[in-house]
Amino acid sequence: ELFVDFQKVFLAYNESEFAVEDISLQTRQGEFIAIVGPSGCGKSTFMKLATGLKAPTSGLVNIDGKPVTGPLKFVGMAFQAPTLLPWRTTLDNVLLPLEIVEPYRSNFKREHEQYVQRALKLLKTVGLEGYADKYPWQLSGGMQQRASICRALIHEPKMLLLDEPFGALDAFTREELWCVLRDLWTERKFNVILVTHDLREAAFLADTIYVMSKRPGRIVARKENPLAQPRE
Ligand code: ADP
Ligand code: ADP
Repeated sequence: ELFVDFQKVFLAYNESEFAVEDISLQTRQGEFIAIVGPSGCGKSTFMKLATGLKAPTSGLVNIDGKPVTGPLKFVGMAFQAPTLLPWRTTLDNVLLPLEIVEPYRSNFKREHEQYVQRALKLLKTVGLEGYADKYPWQLSGGMQQRASICRALIHEPKMLLLDEPFGALDAFTREELWCVLRDLWTERKFNVILVTHDLREAAFLADTIYVMSKRPGRIVARKENPLAQPRE
């Protein structure tokens, strides 16, 4: 029933200091967690450990019941800076992860139309119907970030990692996208790890909030969110 399971995880990039220290953290299937803490405290390092991009110096990382032995495929990611490819339309940007995950599967071409329909449905959900054929420069910052979230979800990942995804947006757009994200998550029940500086954002979105301290990164507090939406 656990999804993320960190047991006494340490990671050092060099010999003098740990970047994260003694991290123990467990999430239930479908849980939305937020990690808050000052910059440099080890949040990105935590993300790398949770996706298999880094192996711990010591300790155990299990995801979905299995030890992590390399980069995980069932992960979607979105970051603060818009990273849409400028020479591709919104639709082709959203489809990109499928081309990376699926190219060697013979059925990719045959199922292409089905993937296009899935992408258009996601774009509609985030309020971007009518923008599928536009290029990134034709979209506002908020619209690019909506498209990035669609791209992160197109291959129906079990886990969504969000690293300050709304940090560059104005307050109004940010809160609108909180609602978009929460609706998507309520409908699909994927696991989410959100890294943010914004306590209001964490309180609005997450079931559980973890606070990391500065150097070396340790989890110093864990709070169940009393405002979390009841789930069945
Ligand atoms: P955050 O995402 O919270 O800003 P990071 O996980 O990026 O924090 O960094 C945690 C600590 O590890 C920082 O002190 C940072 O300087 C150090 N660090 C991060 N990446 C590397 C690396 N590749 N090599 C050496 N030190 C690193
Ligand atoms: P912002 O990030 O600038 O706050 P939003 O993503 O909230 O903008 O978009 C607000 C609305 O403004 C959109 O629904 C869209 O109708 C319109 N809009 C913004 N930028 C553009 C653009 N470059 N082209 C067409 N419409 C746009």
